[in-house]
Amino acid sequence: MTLARARLPQGHGISKAIYKDALRRGRFEPEQHGLREASAAAWRTHFRLVLPEVVRVVSEDSETGTTAKAVLRLADGLECECVLLPMGRGRSTLCVSSQIGCKMGCKFCETGRMGLLRHMTTAEIVSELLVARNVLGWEFRNVVFMGMGEALDNADAVLPALRVLTDPMGLGMSQERITICTVGHLEGIQRLQSLGMKRLNLSISLNAGNDALRASLMPINKRAPLARLQEVLGGHRPRANFVLGVNYCLMPEINDRDEHAHEIAEFCRPLGRVMVNVIPYNPGTAPLTRAPTDAEIEHFVELLREEGLPVRLRITKGRTVMAACGQLGNVDLRRPRLPIARN
Ligand code: SF4
Repeated sequence: MTLARARLPQGHGISKAIYKDALRRGRFEPEQHGLREASAAAWRTHFRLVLPEVVRVVSEDSETGTTAKAVLRLADGLECECVLLPMGRGRSTLCVSSQIGCKMGCKFCETGRMGLLRHMTTAEIVSELLVARNVLGWEFRNVVFMGMGEALDNADAVLPALRVLTDPMGLGMSQERITICTVGHLEGIQRLQSLGMKRLNLSISLNAGNDALRASLMPINKRAPLARLQEVLGGHRPRANFVLGVNYCLMPEINDRDEHAHEIAEFCRPLGRVMVNVIPYNPGTAPLTRAPTDAEIEHFVELLREEGLPVRLRITKGRTVMAACGQLGNVDLRRPRLPIARN
């Protein structure tokens, strides 16, 4: 919210309380703050809290809890998706979108097949959290920018959203609870550094440790080859105990051989502390390959460990309801490239 001071007869002094109420409770009720009727009406004239409409929620139960995907309709009719992921011990993470579609074109990703329809605005990004918490009643501890879109391709909106999420007067999240995931958007990583949020988490989507394979899976690698990515990531040490997340979508018969594990280790070696997150491939509507078997996953995790890498296996969640990693988006919305709307 921005304040139009001259136009408000009364109530400037409680603007912080109104703002906090809007972000924490998803409610804009100026009259609840002791304002006279005319002042409350003036507030309502100048400010609105418009949340996306929940189109549908689909969910899948598992041993770790319920994975739920919400499809949200934005003011212009386009839809974004956010996902509640159970992380065990009763904790959950909210995976949010930052773009409608995505222009990065990663071959293993449903969103990439849509192309970029438009960037989401800061308000739309923040509103995903408000809807999740206040409309759907979801409880989550962490937020990860790993839904639809490449977050750092929309840094103009995502970076201010990080400010709102961490603003003590707003959502008041601690930086440690937020992770930005990127395919390796070099300029975006540098902009993130300049933000000075030292406790924010960063993870990259690697998926191959050699340029030829990575470029065939992820077109960004042609612009930002591994050596350059390594160089930029090497300069990203926001704090002494920073651990870079390295996400690896395991695709059988594509990137699961012994030498692939070795190449990942070579890529990670100069980067300081890393955590390799192995994410089993989730087939979408036009699968690149099948999902890996448990034996294949275990074998590859073991290969990585033999290379001396710390590894975490991401248990597949939400695959049956197209809520898993790489499955978000509605390719029916795909359309010829339009001018990109910035907020
Ligand atoms: S993986 Fe991420 S960056 Fe790549 S196409 Fe999908 S949404 Fe875009």
